Amino acid sequence: MQCLNDYHIPLYLSHTITEIRGSRRVEGAVVSRVDGRGKPVPGTERLFDCDTILLSVGLIPENELSRNAGIELDPRTKGPVVCENMETSIPGVFACGNVVHVHDLVDFVTAESQRAGAAAAAYALQGAAPAEEKAVPLKNGEGVGYTVPQRVRPGRVEKYAEVFFRVRRNFKGSVIEVESGGNVLSAFKREHMAPGEMEHIVIPKRLLEKAADDGITISAKEAEKA
Ligand SMILES: Cc1cc2nc3c(=O)[nH]c(=O)nc-3n(C[C@H](O)[C@H](O)[C@H](O)COP(=O)(O)OP(=O)(O)OC[C@H]3O[C@@H](n4cnc5c(N)ncnc54)[C@H](O)[C@@H]3O)c2cc1C
Repeated sequence: MQCLNDYHIPLYLSHTITEIRGSRRVEGAVVSRVDGRGKPVPGTERLFDCDTILLSVGLIPENELSRNAGIELDPRTKGPVVCENMETSIPGVFACGNVVHVHDLVDFVTAESQRAGAAAAAYALQGAAPAEEKAVPLKNGEGVGYTVPQRVRPGRVEKYAEVFFRVRRNFKGSVIEVESGGNVLSAFKREHMAPGEMEHIVIPKRLLEKAADDGITISAKEAEKA
């Protein structure tokens, strides 16, 4: 908003491009208001002279390296499946940042990179985790699109596991529920949640140790439905 204000760039919410003009190159764009169902409202067309149109169509992780290495990918994040310490399905290979899931804020990338770096150093010193180590799957329930990490090994967690996820739709006056084996282990209130803003919770080690074999499910609900 500050950038838009500083450069007097108008921001039209609930509008869409309904026509692009020009033959050899772009000369203008017709922009119309949309109704509550996203349909253009006839009679609201405005023509803007322009020579370029930029479309913001979202980001997905670039996974050439992960795919070529044979790392298990999560179809929800389009990035590698990772454990609590950012280790991928190949022991000794760690991933972090936008290659795992798309971040809005670089601060979370930094935190993830520190976790991955420390785990890679520990792997170099101590070697691989025992194959039979308990791993709790983290699953997305109602209203949640994905979780990172997708697996947590309680034995490797010092105090708590950090979990990141995105909700599927806008929520107001909502609650995040952490559930396992039919029991709600913990709940977190949120005033507002939106798909464009990554959510972050922590699950204490003692709750991870209590989790049922079928894992932990994270859901987002309106507070009155919870
Ligand atoms: C338009 C936009 C605006 C943003 N604004 C903000 C903001 O204001 N504040 C904020 O906190 N965050 C912002 N972010 C988010 C932030 O930029 C990202 O979360 C962060 O840069 C991700 O860091 P990364 O190291 O994981 O990935 P990247 O920064 O994308 O770094 C990955 C690097 O790997 C390189 N690479 C890829 N494949 C290979 C390969 N095969 N071999 C070698 N190198 C390779 C790429 O060239 C790139 O340099 C913004 C993101 C975008 C897209």
